[in-house]
Amino acid sequence: MAGRTPRKAPEHFDLVILGSGSTAFAAALRAQELDKSAVMIEQRSVGGTCVNRGCLPSKNLIEAAKLVYDAHNPRYPGLTQEGPGLSVNFRELVAQKDEVVESYRQKKYDSLLGGRFTVRDGSARFVDAHAVEVEGRRLTGERFLVATGSRPHIPDIAGLESVPYLTSDLLTHGEVEELTELPDSLLILGGGYIALELGQMFARFGTAVTIMDRNRQLLAHGYETEIGRIMGQVFEDEGIDVLTNATMRSVHTDAQGIVADVQVGSTQRTLRAERLLIATGRRPNSDGIGLEAAGVSVNARHEVEVDAQLRTGVPHIFAAGDVIGRQHGSQMATPVGSRQGAIAAHNALAADEPRTFDGRVIPRAIFTDPPVGIVGMTEEKAVAAEHRCWCRPLPISLVPRAGAIRDTRGFVKMVADADTNEVLGVAMVGVNASEVIHEAAMAMRFHAKLADFVDLLHIYPSMAEALKIAAISRSKDPARLSCCAE
Ligand SMILES: Cc1cc2nc3c(=O)[nH]c(=O)nc-3n(C[C@H](O)[C@H](O)[C@H](O)COP(=O)(O)OP(=O)(O)OC[C@H]3O[C@@H](n4cnc5c(N)ncnc54)[C@H](O)[C@@H]3O)c2cc1C
Repeated sequence: MAGRTPRKAPEHFDLVILGSGSTAFAAALRAQELDKSAVMIEQRSVGGTCVNRGCLPSKNLIEAAKLVYDAHNPRYPGLTQEGPGLSVNFRELVAQKDEVVESYRQKKYDSLLGGRFTVRDGSARFVDAHAVEVEGRRLTGERFLVATGSRPHIPDIAGLESVPYLTSDLLTHGEVEELTELPDSLLILGGGYIALELGQMFARFGTAVTIMDRNRQLLAHGYETEIGRIMGQVFEDEGIDVLTNATMRSVHTDAQGIVADVQVGSTQRTLRAERLLIATGRRPNSDGIGLEAAGVSVNARHEVEVDAQLRTGVPHIFAAGDVIGRQHGSQMATPVGSRQGAIAAHNALAADEPRTFDGRVIPRAIFTDPPVGIVGMTEEKAVAAEHRCWCRPLPISLVPRAGAIRDTRGFVKMVADADTNEVLGVAMVGVNASEVIHEAAMAMRFHAKLADFVDLLHIYPSMAEALKIAAISRSKDPARLSCCAE
């Protein structure tokens, strides 16, 4: 008909992926290996949260903050700081962070695109179970993967809607949320890993930081209780104000910045800061993507519901990564999403046996100083799973290397089944804990027992000896060992 633009035919793919984070990339690469076509759809930056505004930029700046802290706080007698020490140019630090992010994104994400593996810019939304719409274009697929990740959870607090606040998106690059000026003072709401990592980082760059959390201690959920206690002490020793059992009732701004009415225990307090950072957890991006139109359901925690093969209730639609939250032992972490993306693509596109995600052994780290490393069950979980628990926390000062390098902050705890002696979980706070935890993880993959940690010759003096000493303490007093004797 004259004057009417013909509607473009939909493009068709073997796998249509909503999102382009680490979960999506792993799925698209697996599709490529299977010689299938895949398209990812991205509304922000290619690569998703981890590379652009999560893992990579945070770890880059956290290390810079450690250099500043160590320069000002030499822990050896004989080393004294003279003169002003290191000075911090936050803008330049942010600029170098952006360069690192750009170069990593180019190497690990952008350069992989091409051929039958493409990305489309725009926001994707299911129009029915077989098609999504992106900026007015229709893309159809044989199979779909929802890998839309998560975003900061914003709590319901009186006045918050009219207050400018930061979220972890402050680490982003090329978006308005990026923070380029170092605040003089910062109030952080939340006591999870993001609050801790960013709180210590800002404090070390020179910001006066207050961390407030409604729980009785930091890291209240999913961690051994000792970890939150130790980190609270470490933070206070560094001059960070830690308020637990603290609830923000309302917030507003005045000429100086943020004013928050806070209830701490039974007392009311007014907290002031130049900036406010909301770090109260993350929620899956399962809304606004037309899941209802596709017939895909979401649970009360906003997680896209999947079975152990990562299939939603609609057999050709899969979901993986942050958007499935904590189902089937999953956790919101990059390597978890990558593993799941590959499994989902395999189950969607390969003819052989379906695969399932195994969340029994997931090593995790919190990149504070000292760092935290965890894997497997906490004592509470082991008891809930009806194990008779042999669970013993030991101070990291028992590890020769910790004493040798004059950093004895932390602890190590093994959670073992008291009947079989199988190690079910490990938690460690201490120098290099984020690396040491891999030994425990590998051992647990093969159902190692306490004796296996003792039998393995460990490098002396190393922080990994923490694991051996913890295991030895099942039968001997670890305070009465000589050097590396067993
Ligand atoms: C500050 C911070 C630090 C972190 N540090 C670590 C760490 O050290 N180690 C670690 O393992 N994990 C870390 N994480 C967690 C990690 O970043 C996430 O678990 C991981 O990025 C999740 O990957 P994903 O692919 O599932 O989701 P994402 O990476 O979030 O990707 C989802 C993508 O989908 C896009 N999207 C959403 N909706 C739509 C739509 N409708 N249309 C088109 N696109 C859409 C989003 O823009 C996003 O880019 C950190 C997170 C944060 C915030």
